Amino acid sequence: MNIILLGPPGAGKGTQSANLVENHKMRQLSTGDMLRAAVKAQTPVGLEAKAVMERGDLVSDEIVSSLISDELAAMSDDTGVIFDGYPRTEAQATSLDEILEQHGRKLDHVIELEVNEDALVERITGRFSCASCGALYHDTANPPKVEGVCDACGSTEFKRRPDDNEDTVRNRMAEYRAKTAPILPIYDARGIVTRVDGMASISQVTQALNAILAS
Ligand code: AMP
Repeated sequence: MNIILLGPPGAGKGTQSANLVENHKMRQLSTGDMLRAAVKAQTPVGLEAKAVMERGDLVSDEIVSSLISDELAAMSDDTGVIFDGYPRTEAQATSLDEILEQHGRKLDHVIELEVNEDALVERITGRFSCASCGALYHDTANPPKVEGVCDACGSTEFKRRPDDNEDTVRNRMAEYRAKTAPILPIYDARGIVTRVDGMASISQVTQALNAILAS
């Protein structure tokens, strides 16, 4: 099973990927996570990507497609994959087709999380994660059960993404509208797109995704 989760920043792709990884033993491939790791490790890719990401622009197609290609090459071909935040342009969609073919994989579902953009700024600027295990939280919608303590691992250290500020978020949304939303017709033509209401609660969206995977 290979699926793409599509939707603007803050639509819930990361949160829902984590659920799918847990419930369906799939692997999440998030180019955003890979790029943040590269920035942190100050690799050549990280050094090139850092300023681009801080502005909320898109990193080059070549860089992100080679990150995905390398990850898939290192993975058993029968492990199910959730593509989170990739592809984001038509060129990336074309590369993904080629990479999947090299590994004898096919795309089963493209799931678009539909959201109201005005609500997204609040969603994104309120989100944070555990600095130790990466569990995702939100100031009002999904705070830890005990304030200041991670539910999953007990750590008391949390972090916020530097690109989760309002100006950058608005640019990231504009990039989504201009470059990512136009790839949906490619997958619509193949009859593999399902649209899910991303404004529903986390557990309702999880249920909807589980139903799609079971179909
Ligand atoms: P994300 O964690 O998916 O929101 O990605 C954070 C940032 O990483 C984006 O705003 C882009 O700057 C960069 N990025 C992540 N994935 C891609 C991609 N597939 N293509 C280009 N840039 C990306």
